[in-house]
Amino acid sequence: MNCPPFRRFRFLLGAAMLLGAITARAASLPHSEVVPGGVAVFDLGAAGEERPVARFGRNRAMVVKDSKHWKAVIGLPLDLIPGQYFFTVQKPGEDKPRQFKFSVAPKQYRTQHLSIANKNQVDPDRKTLKRIKRERAEMDAVYNHWRDIEPVTLPLKQPVKGELSSSFGLRRVFNGKPRNPHSGLDIAAPAGRPVIAPAAGVIAATGYYFFNGNTVMIDHGQGLVSMMCHLSRIDVKKGDAVKRGDVIGKVGSTGRATGPHLHWSLSLNNARVNPRLFLWTPKPEAEKKPETAPEKTVSGEKPAKNTLKNKHQKKSGAKNKPLRKKTAQ
Ligand SMILES: [Zn+2]
Repeated sequence: MNCPPFRRFRFLLGAAMLLGAITARAASLPHSEVVPGGVAVFDLGAAGEERPVARFGRNRAMVVKDSKHWKAVIGLPLDLIPGQYFFTVQKPGEDKPRQFKFSVAPKQYRTQHLSIANKNQVDPDRKTLKRIKRERAEMDAVYNHWRDIEPVTLPLKQPVKGELSSSFGLRRVFNGKPRNPHSGLDIAAPAGRPVIAPAAGVIAATGYYFFNGNTVMIDHGQGLVSMMCHLSRIDVKKGDAVKRGDVIGKVGSTGRATGPHLHWSLSLNNARVNPRLFLWTPKPEAEKKPETAPEKTVSGEKPAKNTLKNKHQKKSGAKNKPLRKKTAQ
């Protein structure tokens, strides 16, 4: 580049400032919504060199650097019983982990009635139940896998163009029989439309599953996993590394689907959470005022008051083991 020394200095200074701004931005965190199926974001204090280890129940939880602070990003299972919980944080150099207490508020999800012509998809026979069990174990292995990478590429990009439904969390009744709640987000799109990776990651599983049809699971790192279902075709294979925006397959209606659409499940520390909370541009539903403070840190010394009565909980208070509701197959 042919420019005088002063201009060159200014150029370098400008470039250095820009780089500083990019690295300072590091992560763009999801919207905190401390309800079943939501996400809780906690400030763990000024960031040192080494990332602290956070755990919720048996699972490791995501910790990312944001505005020079470490932040824990914890997924709350859809079937979590509202009440008081805690997670633990082990900071480098400290002899034992600290407890952070927080309250999970209730959230009412609507009920949806659906008719399915294929009766085996509502009441699977013994052979199918065996298959479902095997497939669930395969998916659970991916959800529970911890890949220690920094930084996690947040926020996520919508994986296919189309209208977002507000179907996450719906209590589902198939042919009059209550079944598991809807643990993903449906995006309306015609068959054949390309589906992209919402963030960089590694393809952790692909296959044709009984309920989900052609499916791709992407491990984004630190316990964050995307699952894309009902695809008409799969364009990746297990072990492939993908960048944000890479095509992984095409929209379809394979498996238990009433028509072509993309079902996108997002799992964080093995909890299926609302993918809307992680998108670039919050859509109206995500912009609604959260039912609890949007982001708060609670220290172990001053326990948060348990304002929710819960017959499943002991009087002693917070739980680290997520309490889950019983659900039908
Ligand atoms: Zn769905």
